[in-house]
Amino acid sequence: MDGHSVKLLSNIGQLNQLDQIEQLGIDGIGLLRTELLFMGLKQAPTEEQQYQMYKQTVEAVTPKVVTIRTLDVGADKQLDYIHLDKQENPALGERGVRYSLHNPEQFMVQLRAILRASTLGCIRVMFPMINQVEELIDILDLLAQSKKQLKQQQLDYGKIELGIVVETPAAIINLPSMLPYLDFISIGSNDLSQYTLAVDRTNPVLSQQFSAFSPAIIQSIATVINLAKQQQISVSLCGELASDPRIAPILIGLGLDELSINIGTFLPVKAAICSGQYNHFTQQAAACLKSTKISQLAQYL
Ligand code: PEP
Ligand code: MG
Repeated sequence: MDGHSVKLLSNIGQLNQLDQIEQLGIDGIGLLRTELLFMGLKQAPTEEQQYQMYKQTVEAVTPKVVTIRTLDVGADKQLDYIHLDKQENPALGERGVRYSLHNPEQFMVQLRAILRASTLGCIRVMFPMINQVEELIDILDLLAQSKKQLKQQQLDYGKIELGIVVETPAAIINLPSMLPYLDFISIGSNDLSQYTLAVDRTNPVLSQQFSAFSPAIIQSIATVINLAKQQQISVSLCGELASDPRIAPILIGLGLDELSINIGTFLPVKAAICSGQYNHFTQQAAACLKSTKISQLAQYL
């Protein structure tokens, strides 16, 4: 792409996908959905079990980066060994870091396993469903406690980059207060659309009418990029938008530093980006930002 470089990574949810990172020339893992790794388990994975999973992942892709998202359970993502109380609105309920912060011991098992694996390669960790800086401060406290526990056990840990998944409108509004604590951010456009448009992402009746490729979401993505760029924080996008070869070039034109793409569409997305001109992408992005109607955006599809 005429001199402009971006990183194209992938979303992973199963260890048997790891071979494809090398085979397809993928720049690394931009989203490891850890709850998918734990699916089918009858009991919470121990620190050692988790360490082995992260070790296998890092060793398979080193020296490329592995971005581990901490457990994102709740709403549309259920695990056999986690019994959440019945909630009237699960998507607005206990999920993502809300669950992790309510269950700090279980959360620290995951943090310790990730920290230990960080001695083996390049690991970033990111936290899902964050709304505000207090949650981040609480997480950082648990991270510090996890490091202390490892030290007491004389177990090593490496340096780890910290990020959040930006997937609620509140996270965007509160981003300036959170950026000072972060090394990177990744936009979760699936949930960001669900919460911005107030549309259940699992409801097939509404999914066509309220596409994530809509003016409110494009504006939100641009706002996030601008806020992060002011603080020199790198911005990725890991939702489905990045996996659409028609939309991914426009996302690059908006100024994203990297995309995390589903393995299944990695090659067509890469081809769409590599065969295009960055100038053209920025022009398309500018036109999209001026679009006030979904129908105007639809011409790119
Ligand atoms: C997202 O919300 O865009 C995202 C990448 O995470 P998930 O689809 O796993 O919620
Ligand atoms: Mg999400």
